[in-house]
Amino acid sequence: MALTPMMRQYLDLKEKNKECLLFFRLGDFYEMFFEDALTASKELDITLTGKDCGLEERAPMCGVPYHAADGYIQKLIGKGYKVAICEQLELPEEAKGLVKRGIIRIVTPGTVFDSSMLKDNENNYILSVYEKNGVLGAAYADISTGAFFSEEIKDTNALQNLMIRIYPTEVLFQRSNGALENFFAAYKEHCFLTRYEDWPFISSNAGKALKEHFHVLSLASFGLDPKMLSVNAAGALLQYLLETQKNSLEHIKKLTPTSGGKYMVIDPFTHRNLELTETMRDKSRKGSLLWLLDKTKTAMGGRLIKRYIEQPLLDKKEIMARLDAVGELKKDLFLRNELRNLLDNIYDIERLLSRISYGSLDARDVLAIRASIQPLPQLKELLSACESTALSEAAKGIDTMGDLCLFLSQSISDDPPNGIRDGGIIKSGFNHDVDKLREARTSGKDWLSSLEQKERESTGIKNLRIGCNKVFGYYIEVTKSNLSLVPYRYTRRQTLAGCERFVTPELKELEEMLFSAEDKCNKLEYELFLKIRSELEGHISVLQANADIIARIDVLQSFAQAAYDYDYVKPTIKTNGVIDIKNGRHPVVERAVRQEFVPNDAYLDEKEDKFLIITGPNMAGKSTFMRQTGLIVLMAQIGCFVPAVSANICIVDRIFTRVGASDDLSAGQSTFMVEMNELASILNNATSKSLLILDEIGRGTSTLDGLSIAWATIEYILGQTGIGAKTLFATHYHELIRLEGILPGVKNYSVGVREFNKTILFLHKIRRGGTDKSFGIEVARLAGLPEGLIERAKALLTALEKHAGTDISVLDVSATQEPEEKNARTETANKIVSDIGNIEINTLTPLEALSILNDFKQRIE
Ligand code: ATP
Repeated sequence: MALTPMMRQYLDLKEKNKECLLFFRLGDFYEMFFEDALTASKELDITLTGKDCGLEERAPMCGVPYHAADGYIQKLIGKGYKVAICEQLELPEEAKGLVKRGIIRIVTPGTVFDSSMLKDNENNYILSVYEKNGVLGAAYADISTGAFFSEEIKDTNALQNLMIRIYPTEVLFQRSNGALENFFAAYKEHCFLTRYEDWPFISSNAGKALKEHFHVLSLASFGLDPKMLSVNAAGALLQYLLETQKNSLEHIKKLTPTSGGKYMVIDPFTHRNLELTETMRDKSRKGSLLWLLDKTKTAMGGRLIKRYIEQPLLDKKEIMARLDAVGELKKDLFLRNELRNLLDNIYDIERLLSRISYGSLDARDVLAIRASIQPLPQLKELLSACESTALSEAAKGIDTMGDLCLFLSQSISDDPPNGIRDGGIIKSGFNHDVDKLREARTSGKDWLSSLEQKERESTGIKNLRIGCNKVFGYYIEVTKSNLSLVPYRYTRRQTLAGCERFVTPELKELEEMLFSAEDKCNKLEYELFLKIRSELEGHISVLQANADIIARIDVLQSFAQAAYDYDYVKPTIKTNGVIDIKNGRHPVVERAVRQEFVPNDAYLDEKEDKFLIITGPNMAGKSTFMRQTGLIVLMAQIGCFVPAVSANICIVDRIFTRVGASDDLSAGQSTFMVEMNELASILNNATSKSLLILDEIGRGTSTLDGLSIAWATIEYILGQTGIGAKTLFATHYHELIRLEGILPGVKNYSVGVREFNKTILFLHKIRRGGTDKSFGIEVARLAGLPEGLIERAKALLTALEKHAGTDISVLDVSATQEPEEKNARTETANKIVSDIGNIEINTLTPLEALSILNDFKQRIE
């Protein structure tokens, strides 16, 4: 037995794409066969069937409808598979024999471009890394937007920081590189690892690929030197993208060198603890800083604001440029509203452009592009009148694209259909031939209605009507009751329940004329549309540059709107080492608490007020205060106004946080181990320019161990050769407040509470001086622990406080036992004491003494 031709075609393609699941287009379905079918049916939970393939046994098969394929592909990619999409390359009705098929694209997590598979407000990066003698080069791209960056990296630490900054969904590196293999092993749960061949990474090949793609003679035009290792990474990445996407990626127009040194590195702990883009508790966007500040109007702005929040700036000038623009937009309500209204009409230009490259742009997308460039002249005019550099520079950068807008308005109809082969795309007046063919169709339709009228009159059938369907074409429909009136010249075509359908030679002739006009018109419109699409291709660069500007403006207005809505102020950016916040608030908590949020001051400098030890009851607001300080500094460095009455912020190189206890059981780490890991990472990476937020260091172990670690940590940070970083340190180890006055730089603060009617009132006010009370038991009562338990805890606390520092075993823990039991014990003890007093030691034999001792022991037991 031999394989069927189609199965041979399938196996040929599969052989060339062994590592992928092959989606093989058969009519309206993508089918999978053999091993792929077994895998996909299991992973996608779809029915496994079989197909005759020419062999004795049927081939296992399963399939998904082509129009719903995106969802299935997304699911498979999420599970770590690559999917090769095989299409029919010719129309089945035009094929001679077996329909030609080929792979049109390989989809991997880092090469998804369809908007339906991506989040509007997130980039989807693929990262490529090259290593040579321990030095690294990197490049990353988002093919859904055309973004392409390169970056020189010092070491694996810097690579780690880059990973944190861009969160790639796929990483590409040389198959033969053991060092990178080891490095990325830790990331395999979080991103897809692609081991790629060596040759695309070789300098000459990488450089050539880049130069060819960008049509440049030298990479110097991008500020790149061919010796840079990031060039190797970028060239290989481009090669991989071209290979998998199987198109020329026209929307990737430039390679931008970036530098990690421009941004504050935010490690994953800090990202999580400050809840920058999602909450710690349920990982939702709602409740995060991003959720609060994101008032962007465009998808491009939505993606950029996330990047801004995750990449605070280090350069004062750049920060000031953003702050000045936000200030102007906050102040000028008219300007801001106008801007927001204009931005409201702008679609996701970046992702629309990728559809041009992939040939999937339809007429509705063109309308979206047209709608997005229509507001550009007004946008330019509005921004031209602005004073701040960021806004006036943006105005200069906007290309209003008037000619393109006019061209698209004249060429594309205002309400085109979804498909591009069904006509209705081209606007009347744009093309003479289209107009003529349409006219023929219209007059044909007029002729049809006069034919209908004529037939009604000649047959006397009043309700006779002419209709059309896809299978039978045009017909004359006569209801059953009038069939006796049908003339001989009518030919029967179809019998239905209540009527019959006929044709006449005259109707056939008309039909032919109409169909051919329609067919010709649709074909012509299709060809014209392809021309318009390729015309648009020539505008990708300018559109992209406009999209960049729009995204930036959108983020700035979003910051301004937030500043206006929530009453934020412009921070003063300093390099004098002082952070001085007056009446600061936590941006998210202040929106969530029911009662009034209590603002607090924070003052940190490089001398006497470097290290603030914050004590106070549970629930008093220590964590809130520390996080708000961290967030205010971060907000200032992304160029956003801050929740305070005034804020002098000195630029910090990093913010580190260690907050709360959490297990990382999946990584096999206990609460304490996680805490120590985080602390180690902070102490190893912080500098004197960093801001540290340390909440309850040493909580995860015994009191004395914890206290010792906390104490030593303070000394390590503040000691003569210590890190010297500004630190906020909340603790329940009240012993530590004694360090003020002993260690220069330490200042005690506490959060006020008022005891009232056997309960406590939280004042949430931070004040100078430490406290030695935690009120933990009162807070436990507020939380609803049983009253009996609370009473017992109080009694134990009293006992423990009396013997503070001594061995717990000598405490009178019976203090709270039931009186009867207590009395009985006291009586026994008293009796033993008096019996010992009555012993006449001189008259005892050693044996008797031993026996008495034994008796006492038994009584005690
Ligand atoms: P613990 O020691 O138990 O961790 P904590 O002192 O760190 O407690 P927070 O978690 O900061 O306390 O605050 C507890 C709650 O108090 C917050 O969730 C918030 O609702 C409220 N709160 C904190 N600070 C303020 C404030 N300044 N104004 C109003 N409410 C506040």
